[in-house]
Amino acid sequence: MNSRRRFLKNSGLGTMAALGLPYLSPGGPMPQQKKARRFVSTWSHGKVANEMAMAVLNEKSELLSSVEEGVRIVESDPDGRSVGLGGLPDNSGRVTLDACIMRGNGASGSVGALHNIEHPISVARAVMEKTQHVMLVGDGARKFALDQGFPNKDLLVPETRRDYENWKKEEELKLPPINHENHDTIGLIGMDENGKMAGACTTSGWAYKMPGRLGDSPIIGAGLFVDEEAGAATASGLGESIIQIAGCHLVVELMRQGMSPDDACKEAVTRISRKHSKWNKESLQACFIALRRDGSVGGYSLKKGFQYVVTDDEGSEILDAPYLTK
Ligand code: ASP
Repeated sequence: MNSRRRFLKNSGLGTMAALGLPYLSPGGPMPQQKKARRFVSTWSHGKVANEMAMAVLNEKSELLSSVEEGVRIVESDPDGRSVGLGGLPDNSGRVTLDACIMRGNGASGSVGALHNIEHPISVARAVMEKTQHVMLVGDGARKFALDQGFPNKDLLVPETRRDYENWKKEEELKLPPINHENHDTIGLIGMDENGKMAGACTTSGWAYKMPGRLGDSPIIGAGLFVDEEAGAATASGLGESIIQIAGCHLVVELMRQGMSPDDACKEAVTRISRKHSKWNKESLQACFIALRRDGSVGGYSLKKGFQYVVTDDEGSEILDAPYLTK
């Protein structure tokens, strides 16, 4: 069976009955049979992240650590321009990071506008596990991270320092468009053999953004949403457009009503295109990936060029997402 069919094999069935689920109500019955273990993540760099996640799941049988360790690899990659080390800074020259993590039972943690900490995803997990809060931002998030023992680290690399200096010299300081060439936020969602789900999302956001700007990535329900009674979704692309439709929450709720992951992601993208025409320009990109609780996966993007990666016990596949327009 070709890979896309393998990963989508349950997704075209459409009805609750076809899913073997009478009705996906809150607290509804979970099927008892073992699930296909699966990780799905944004962009081609998701392959190393998924494979790390699978290795951690094999070793520790701990899904939350799997998604966290998976995205940490990308946070530490100095060549990625939209995540962690090597991410492009805001317009003051400071690299600020947004991240969130979520379990399928609703437990979640998030950090926004955090600077000089290499692994915001782990700080987000600490917010979830060690505080009574869901979200910490700015100086408060940084103080918490340092208090928790996360080391201070300069996240600019020589190339991003140089690019920033060049950008500042330009006559008209413009935000570069968020399209498939200049961003690579990682969102990673996964399911273990017991049907437990979790997700993680981490980014340095829009290059040269205003200081204090948050995108969708640290916002539960926008850049990530996980509810193992229905499914999980994560996003990449222009955060402002994704926040305004509560994108990932929408995708999960559509799957709860029986939509396939592909169709749910397509509906979210279509809504962005329909309702927010001010961004419906040549450069705008918005992308979603989803994992339904029956193990079927899907993705969809506004513009051509979005790829996502699916990893199961048989290996990884990089898939070209269907899209609304070229
Ligand atoms: N969604 C991210 C943000 O708006 C950007 C991206 O996906 O590259 O911050």
